[in-house]
Amino acid sequence: MTNDYRFEFRPYRRRFLRSLTTNHGNWDIREGIILRLTDESGKVGWGEIAPISWFGSETLEQALDFCHQLPAEITEETIFSISDELPACQFGFESAWEWGSGGDEGDEGGNFITPNFSLLTPHSSLLYSALLPSGEAALNQWETLWEQGYRTFKWKIGVYAIADELEIFKSLIHTLPAFTKLRLDANGGLSYEEANLWLRTCDNLKVNGELPVIIEFIEQPLPVGQFQQMLELSPSYETAIALDESVATLGQLAACYQQGWRGIFVIKPGIVGSPSRLRKFCQQHKIDTVFSSVFETAIARLAALQLAAELSQNNRAIGFGIDHFFEQEETWFQSLWNDL
Ligand code: MG
Repeated sequence: MTNDYRFEFRPYRRRFLRSLTTNHGNWDIREGIILRLTDESGKVGWGEIAPISWFGSETLEQALDFCHQLPAEITEETIFSISDELPACQFGFESAWEWGSGGDEGDEGGNFITPNFSLLTPHSSLLYSALLPSGEAALNQWETLWEQGYRTFKWKIGVYAIADELEIFKSLIHTLPAFTKLRLDANGGLSYEEANLWLRTCDNLKVNGELPVIIEFIEQPLPVGQFQQMLELSPSYETAIALDESVATLGQLAACYQQGWRGIFVIKPGIVGSPSRLRKFCQQHKIDTVFSSVFETAIARLAALQLAAELSQNNRAIGFGIDHFFEQEETWFQSLWNDL
């Protein structure tokens, strides 16, 4: 393996089959960058930069500016000195480098000239959580996903009025088969009172034995700025809390850990930053993690699932059950990179 790489990149746009609605608003088009590194022996590594700026990463424009200013030949030093201000770029370049160099997992990845999509199928040792549509639509969609084999679901809350969502929630938990796991994701959209109401509702249902399903956790109930309140809420209820937006990047993850967070950490590898530094952090601190998608393509997903398989603790389902939000991607990829 040599130290110099030819660097090429292509921006992409993919439309969601259905608009993704969260407390942050509607999301209709996923935009990102596919990159390719080729070493002097012709070995190829693929990477993907899939930022979500409203979640805490750089913007797509910042990532594109970074790619445009790089020379056509780059070195490992370039890859490992990308600024912490560009976490999605750190992930994209470093995972392309790992793909090309094979890493510790053997070097089959480096032999593909074309990414082989049939090899990018779900990692069989991992459980998947499927994302339900927000609001009442969840009541109509879980069954299809159940038939596909999903047993853990995530439902967005903090999107509609809390009284309406609590009603839908009660229908949902009595409709889902017993022992289904359900995650509630507020995307930081609840007030302190609303967060308490959701946590108390989940706790009470459990105490009264009225809960046929398992509420695994409530994710990011409060905005990023209200970390202290979440730290206080966590031990006050039996229902667990997971941080997501609060730990979007490695810097935030380390800061929350240092300030005492020992609950669940949702990790989105696509925007968290350097995979090697993430590995070190998770191995050193043995944190309770849930790995989750950023609606990336199969390129970033492969690298993200590799990290999830290596680093997941407590056998928690990973949040990559999102295929139903996009069309099949193989044809799309070949049209993007038309010299393949
Ligand atoms: Mg979330």
